[in-house]
Amino acid sequence: MNRKEFIQVAGSGTAALIFAPAIVGCPGPSPVVANGRAVSFSHGTWIGGPEGEWSADAWRQKFAELKSSGIDAVLLKLQPEELESLVPVAAEEGVEIHAWMIAMMQGGMEEEHHEWYVVNRKGESAADHPAYVDYYKFMCPSREPVVEHLVGQVRRLAQIDGLASVHLDYIRYPDVILPIDLWEKYGIVQDREYAEYDYCYCDVCRETFKAQSGVDPLDIEDPSTSDAWRQYRYDTITAVVNRLAEEVHRVDMPLTAAVFPTPEIAKTLVRQDWVNWDMDALMPMMYHSFYQEPVEWIGQACREGVEAVAGKFPIYAGVFVPALDPGQLAQTVELARANGAAGVVLFEGKMPTTEHWAAFSAAVSKS
Ligand SMILES: [Zn+2]
Repeated sequence: MNRKEFIQVAGSGTAALIFAPAIVGCPGPSPVVANGRAVSFSHGTWIGGPEGEWSADAWRQKFAELKSSGIDAVLLKLQPEELESLVPVAAEEGVEIHAWMIAMMQGGMEEEHHEWYVVNRKGESAADHPAYVDYYKFMCPSREPVVEHLVGQVRRLAQIDGLASVHLDYIRYPDVILPIDLWEKYGIVQDREYAEYDYCYCDVCRETFKAQSGVDPLDIEDPSTSDAWRQYRYDTITAVVNRLAEEVHRVDMPLTAAVFPTPEIAKTLVRQDWVNWDMDALMPMMYHSFYQEPVEWIGQACREGVEAVAGKFPIYAGVFVPALDPGQLAQTVELARANGAAGVVLFEGKMPTTEHWAAFSAAVSKS
């Protein structure tokens, strides 16, 4: 299968990925919703947490460097206590902190709660037969105890004074189809939905869907053709997101998330129907190289996302630094701006070279 054929598969036969007609003029940034908990930073970066401990002074220096390069938001994957101590340090340097939280993919509870983990169409649990890699241990969004577990984690993060948002990642099913550039890496071809990557067929999912539709999804000859079964999975993830949104909004804190790059790809590959989520901002991962696309595709992805959410919340372009030379990194800032995105978020903060930062800060200072 070549890239064009992949796009047809990923687009479910629609023309959604074919670029829309030329945009006339510059639409400017997307409107920020005036809901009292607006997300309004300029540009951000994910930081996965340092190897080993960093002192508060080392972090302060990092925040100051980022700020001087044009970054004013850091999406940080650390423990709540560490975030609590870093929020004021970052604020003094003019940087806001978002709590980057891995949502559905949480290993470590296989013994205690084996039933929490998703089951594929072959009947294998991700608890002991994860797809692709050994850490792909996703929990089932249909199970109330799983949702309560996540609500508890989000509630803890929402107690952090001054936190700019709770930021969800892996808020989805495992990839039923991987981005095409990863097929070679894993030595697989995914020209359709194969049983071993198709989730979730646990008892709760089967019974709930059967109660709604009268059909056991395991009895559907080719489940990939069932709109109702696909919709069930969009809806279960959306329901989890909206429960978590309710929790953070109680304290007027924004909820944000890292999602797959366009509405159509997100639904097709990982069952994310993010257009319908109760969100305050989204950072779609427009990692062009994963889809064997040119850098310009980032502009197209921004346009699709911005038009789909229609001003409900801002879209930031998540960009993959290792696939960009310094000039291309600067270009992503222009592409985001010209296509209605609020800014860019870099994956990830430790990757850009001095040359990348110089190009990036020159690009952002033009606004
Ligand atoms: Zn399930």
